[in-house]
Parts: sequence; structure tokens; C-alpha cells
Amino acid sequence: MKSIAQVMLKEGGVFKSIKAPISIAVTLSMSVMAALVLWFAVLEYKSLYLKLAHSHTVSLANGVIKNIAPSMLSNAENASSISELLFLLKEHEHVISVRVYSGDYSLLLEEKGPAAIRLNEPFLKSLDASVLAEDKFASNNVIVSRRTIGSAANPDGFLMLLVDAKAPLSASIKGLLFNVAPLIFILWLLSIVGTLFFIHRLFRPLGELSVFTKQVTDTKDYALRQNLTSRDEIGTLGENINRLLEMIEVELLINHEQNQTLVDQQETMIRLANYDSLTGLPNRQLVLDNLRLELARARRNGYDLALLFFDLDGFKGINDSLGHETGDLILIEVADRVSALLREGDLVARLGGDEFLVLPDRETRDSSLEHMASRLIDAFSDPFELRGLSLSVGVSVGVARAIDADYDLSDLMSNADLAMYRSKANGRGSYTIFTPDMVESHKRKFHIANAIEQGLRDDEFLIYYQVKVDKAAKVIGLEALLRWQHPEYGMVMPNEFIPIAEQGGKISAITRWVIDKVCQDLPELRAWLPHRFRVSMNLSGHDLRDSNLFDNIYEIFTRHNVNPEFVEFEVTESAYLENFASSNKFFKRMSNMGCAIALDDFGTGYSSLSYLTQISIDTLKIDKQFVHELETSERSRLVMGAIIDLAKRLSLNVCAEGIENKPQWHYLTEHGCDYIQGFMFSKPIPMDELIKSPKQYVIEQMDTAGNIYNN
Ligand code: C2E
Ligand code: MG
Ligand code: MG
Repeated sequence: MKSIAQVMLKEGGVFKSIKAPISIAVTLSMSVMAALVLWFAVLEYKSLYLKLAHSHTVSLANGVIKNIAPSMLSNAENASSISELLFLLKEHEHVISVRVYSGDYSLLLEEKGPAAIRLNEPFLKSLDASVLAEDKFASNNVIVSRRTIGSAANPDGFLMLLVDAKAPLSASIKGLLFNVAPLIFILWLLSIVGTLFFIHRLFRPLGELSVFTKQVTDTKDYALRQNLTSRDEIGTLGENINRLLEMIEVELLINHEQNQTLVDQQETMIRLANYDSLTGLPNRQLVLDNLRLELARARRNGYDLALLFFDLDGFKGINDSLGHETGDLILIEVADRVSALLREGDLVARLGGDEFLVLPDRETRDSSLEHMASRLIDAFSDPFELRGLSLSVGVSVGVARAIDADYDLSDLMSNADLAMYRSKANGRGSYTIFTPDMVESHKRKFHIANAIEQGLRDDEFLIYYQVKVDKAAKVIGLEALLRWQHPEYGMVMPNEFIPIAEQGGKISAITRWVIDKVCQDLPELRAWLPHRFRVSMNLSGHDLRDSNLFDNIYEIFTRHNVNPEFVEFEVTESAYLENFASSNKFFKRMSNMGCAIALDDFGTGYSSLSYLTQISIDTLKIDKQFVHELETSERSRLVMGAIIDLAKRLSLNVCAEGIENKPQWHYLTEHGCDYIQGFMFSKPIPMDELIKSPKQYVIEQMDTAGNIYNN
């Protein structure tokens, strides 16, 4: 069983409070004090009592002497009368005995008093009156008084009175204690209670402080304040606690602010590291990290995964011509349009520039992917209305599956990239689903890209010329079209290697080579064609971004002594508009020099025609697609008619390319087309063949397909 003290200690009893030991100490010390006071009081009382008793004894003895002295003088032997006198003393209850001695100290008689029965001390018997002092003798609680009877010089006798002090003293002390102790006890009790009450009052604020600090600790509410008003040490302690709380509060506030700043910074860093700051979409880093995990999971669980990769057609042109701010607005709207298409679980991310990636949630069926890609393309069918402009931007989409890339992230990305470039090559605004054979074509692309420079050095490139005729079928122009006699791949066509050269940054070298070669050929062409003509060369969009282009052409013209009036440059409308400012400047300078400018593949690119009034061109070259569809498509006929009409209004020449048969010829010439180019007259051919070909065609001598009768 636990002792009470243990319980009290353990379970936070009274000993937990500082009041308990203080109270105990005070109680003990007060008890000791009370006891000491009582003890001293008793001692003092005893001494006073004895003094009083002694003087009382002396006066009693004196009284007796007065009475017996005459008897002693008259008749010393009259003991009986003395005895009678002494007998009276017996009434004094504390008288032990009274002895009468003669002058020579012989005991005459002794009368025992009532106390003699109680007290029979042996030393009383041996008391010698002759040696006792006259006055007093108190010992062993017995008061002895020896008095001289008669004169001191000639005493008649002596009287010795023995009185018991012990019994009356103890009775008196008992009486004293009996009377005083309750009073002292009450006083002691009152003092204790008063002191404890005082201690309680004194320590109450300390207790309140303790409760207060516990409350602060429990609630962690550092805004709490204690409101002790006392001015003593406890009051100061309270104030100090308040000050401490204020400091803690301020520190907490500072800490909180610093923490908040850290959290904000961390969030910003996470956002910057993982999200695109312009569109708010996940960035390359985040999406690739996710994709890596998804691929690992898909491989483990044996399911497939697909992604759609797309970039914007003609975005660079918009950026260059209308500024980056407009470009940024388009990117934001692209993000919105694509996000609106997605279902829950699908993810769209901006990889950088105008490249985006969509990760459909576990959707790999061809039909679903095709549906998704079509929806993506359709989302861009409406023009972007920005800053009062209506801008058409398309997308080219590449779709790839994890299984085709053996769940390898970089292979998957490059497959999607291949598919996307295939879409671009097929004509913008389309999608392509990756197939493994594309890798082969990619390898070919890679080889082609790496062989261009060597090919130029080794003169593997050739210029073929294709004639252009006027309404009278007379050759009035030639288009220089590049071919590459590749040692491994044979004849490679420009549609294949020009985009590769553009991507690889090698187009400028090609363009310089072509211009130089055509300028070299020009004297021979002029020798072949006696009348006025122009030889056309194609420029790529990348050329127009080259700030040295004009100087290079000027240098080549000067070196070959070329008359610019024999030269025309063809540029596609998209290439022109994608580099609007630099194109305008360049073509104005070329025009001033005497060169003509033709807008190639017209009708396929931009829907807005308003720019036509702002650019310096001489000829619109209608895309062959419209010519090919003349017989079959009412829409193409309408477009063709509208373009010719528009060109006339703007005082531009119209050239149609891709004419392969007589009906097309008739249609175009009847509708006012100025120049015609196509297989009906000649395919692009090398110089040696060209100079053997007709300079004037006779339509009547040609069959429908353009073959010339030999009559
Ligand atoms: P382009 O400038 O529109 O050239 C016309 C293309 O149409 C030529 O293809 C030509 O062979 C083809 N063509 C002409 N008449 C007909 C026809 O009646 N029927 C059909 N089916 N096709 C016809 P080519 O030579 O394959 O050139 C393709 C494109 O490559 C050119 O289109 C041009 O954009 C580009 N290109 C050619 N040479 C150069 C060059 O030296 N520099 C640059 N930057 N691009 C070039
Ligand atoms: Mg052309
Ligand atoms: Mg063309």
C-alpha cells in the first residue's frame, strides 16, 4: 500500500505547493515558540512562587517567634505551652515541621505539620540548625527558614520552619497551566490560522500566475496577458511574464512572416521550376518527369500510352511581324483553347516556344487518338481575335505511342516529333500518327541534313529550268528549280531536302549557290532566248531572316555582271508574311534594283488578303492545287476567278503553275491569266535540254496533254 505522503507527492498533493512546507515550518516554529514561552513562563512562575513562598515562610516563622518568644523567656521548660503555640501551625497544610532549638542548638521540640506525612525526606532529619544560615534555605523543593529567638548576640533559642514547596508549586503550576494553556492554544491556533491565511493570500497571485502560464502553454495563445495589480515581486514577475509573452508574440510574428516568405519562395520556385510562367501550364521539366513515371508504370503493368505533340503553324511569322507581345497573347489563348478540350485526367503542357504536348489519360485506340487530334486541329479553325486583328493560326500534330518507342521517353518524344514534322510536310493543319517506318525516313533526313554542305562543295546539286509562257504560249520566263544528284539516294527533290536544309540552318548556303549558279547560266539563257524574259529563283522564309541576303545577292550580281531586270524572286506568301518587316524592306530594295517579285503558292496560306496592299510584289503565282481542281471543284474555279480579278484590281500579274492540259490552259487564258507554267509545256529540265526546247509553243499543235504533234 502506498503511504499517504507518497500519494501526495506522486499525485500532486499538498507537497506540490510551496505553501505546504512554509505552513509546516511556520506551524512548527510557532509551536516551538509557544512551548518555549510556556516553559520560560513556568520557570519564571516557579522562581516567583518560591520567592513568595519563602517570604511567606519567613513572615510565618517571624509570627511564631513573636508568639513563642515570651514563653521561651519566662519558662524555657514550658514546652507544653510552646507546643500548643506550634500546634497552631499544623493548620498550614504545607508545613512539614517546626523545630524549636535552645540557644545552644539543642532541639527542644518539634511539631510535624500535615506535609510531613507526604514528605519524609531523610535530609530533613539531618538538618543542623547550627550550620544553617539565618535567612533562607530552599532545597529539594523544601523551604527551610531558621529564625533567631531573642537577640542575635544572645539568642534565647532558634526556630526552624520547614515548608513543602513542591506540592503547592506543582499544584500551582498545574493550575497555571490549566488556566493558561487553553488561552495559549487558542492564541496558537489563531496565529497558525492567521499565518496560513496570510500565506495563502500571499501566494495566491503566484498560483494565479502558475494557472495563467499553464493556460498559455496549453492554448499556445501568446496574445493572453495576466492582469495582476500587486506591486511586489510577484507583480514584477507578472509584468515580466507579460513582457516575455510580448516578445514571444513578436518573435512568433517575425517567425511566421519569415516562414510565410519561405513558403511563398518555395511555392514560387516550384512554380517556376515546374510551370510555364506565361500560360501557367506544366512545363517541359514537369511533364517529362511525369511521363517518365507513367512510362515505367505502363511498362510494368503492360498497357500502352499515347501522346499528342503539336506546334503552331506560322507562329514565328506572327511573332516577327506583330511582335512578341502578340505572340504571347496567342500562346495564352492556345493554352486556353486546348485546356478547354481536355477531359479529366488529360494533361496539356507547354514544352517551350510554340510546342505543346497533350497526354490523354490512358487513351491509345487509333479512333480516339484521331478524334482527339481532329478536335485539336478544329479548335484552331476560328481565327484569334487580338488587338483588333484577326489572326489564323493552325497546328500540326504528331501522335506517338509508348509501345512503338519500347517505353523509352526520348524515343517516344522523337517519334512524336517525327510524326509532327510529317504533318507539317503533308500540309499544315493536319495530324500524323507515328509508324515505325518513319524512323527510316528520319534516318534518311539525318543523312541528307549532314550531306548538304559536302554536296554543295562537290557540285552534286543541279539547276533545272521550267519555262513560263505568256498568253501567246511564248516563253517569257524560266523558273530555276533545284535538284540534288545524291551519290547514295539518287535524284533528291527540293520538297524533301529544302525543309531539312531550313531546319538545319543550311538554306542560306543553298540559296547562295543557286543564285550564283543561275547568274552563271544567265548569259547562256540570254543567248538561247533572244527576247526579254525573267529567270525566277525561289527564296525560303529563312533567307528573309538573313540580314546579309541583299548584300550577298548584290555581290553575286556584280561579280557576274547580271542585269537585275532579268531576274525574279519567288517567295511563298507564308514566308513573306512570317518575316513581314524584313521581307518588305528586302523586296523593296530588290525591286528598286530592277528585280521582280512573285508571291508563290498563292491562296494556300493566309486567309486575310488585306496585306496585299502593303507589300511590294509584281506577280501572284496561283498555287497548282487550284489549277488541278479546276475541272472538279467549283470552289477552286471560284477562288481562281477571284484571285485573277483581285490581281487585276491591284495591277499585279497573275501566273498559274501546274498546267498540265489544254482545258486548263483555255480556262486560265480566257479568264485573263498572264503567265502559265506547267508540264503541259515543259517539266523542269537541265540547261542542255532546255536550249533544245521550243521558245514558242503552238497550242493548236499540241494534244490535250500538251504533247506536240509532229506534222
Ligand atoms: P515551287 O516554287 O512552287 O515550284 C513549282 C513546283 O511545281 C516545282 O516542283 C515544279 O516541278 C512543280 N510543277 C510545275 N508544273 C507542274 C505541273 O504541271 N504539275 C505538277 N505536278 N507539278 C508541277 P519542284 O521542282 O519539285 O519544287 C518544289 C518546290 O521546292 C518549289 O515549289 C519550291 O518551293 C522549292 N524549291 C525548288 N527549288 C528551290 C530553290 O532553289 N530554293 C528554294 N528555297 N526552294 C526551292
Ligand atoms: Mg516557285
Ligand atoms: Mg509554287
